[in-house]
Amino acid sequence: MTERRRLIAGNWKMNGLMADGLARAKALRTRAVRTRRALPDIAICPPATLLAPVAKLLAGSPLALGAQDCHAADKGAHTGDIAAPMLAELGCRYVIVGHSERRTNHRETDQQVKAKAESVLRAGMTAIVCLGERAEERKAGRHLQVIGGQLDQSLPAEATAENTVIAYEPVWAIGTGLTPTPADIEEAHRHLAGRLPGPIRILYGGSANAANAKALLGTPGVDGLLVGGASLDPEAFWSMVLAAA
Ligand code: PEP
Repeated sequence: MTERRRLIAGNWKMNGLMADGLARAKALRTRAVRTRRALPDIAICPPATLLAPVAKLLAGSPLALGAQDCHAADKGAHTGDIAAPMLAELGCRYVIVGHSERRTNHRETDQQVKAKAESVLRAGMTAIVCLGERAEERKAGRHLQVIGGQLDQSLPAEATAENTVIAYEPVWAIGTGLTPTPADIEEAHRHLAGRLPGPIRILYGGSANAANAKALLGTPGVDGLLVGGASLDPEAFWSMVLAAA
């Protein structure tokens, strides 16, 4: 059976000018190379402007580079967009697709998310496919139906445990300080796992931090964390990495 290594991924979102981002990446690299313990998989997803310099900094370290989005096409007339092969060329190993901020702010549909994930796989990287219900959908008891539908429609047919990771991120938990109960997380992860074609990892995301990481990682079905705000603080992020080690 494929070993389910944990993955801790940090999504810096649109934060960090050059000096700031490089200092954060250096702080993480220093911790990574000094740590004697066996580490989980770790991905750092800086803004696109920092990918190239951060790639140089992370080279040869246990920290993998990830991007926060890509275009579905491999190339073409798409002003301002970035294609997956360009990210692969920079050294990215992961690309986040379908983050709720993209689904909301850019009205991305499941079909678009799936096309982006397919382009990530074509470029030989791992897609982190995000999904999650809104507060009103959970209140109405429709959360499992919603996330099941998102999964069915966003997952590429070629998805395997090697090239795809799912991130369950309830929209109401992102950046709010709110988290679902362990039972709610377990229920959602079990529901998603039951629809997956194989042992694809399922991360939890939404207000994960240094204080709650251990409990979140101890919840059955949680294979790691996608971390937003807390990933901007190297010390907090590293303590979450160690909680998964
Ligand atoms: C995210 O944006 O993927 C996320 C989980 O954010 P936060 O940790 O800040 O809630």
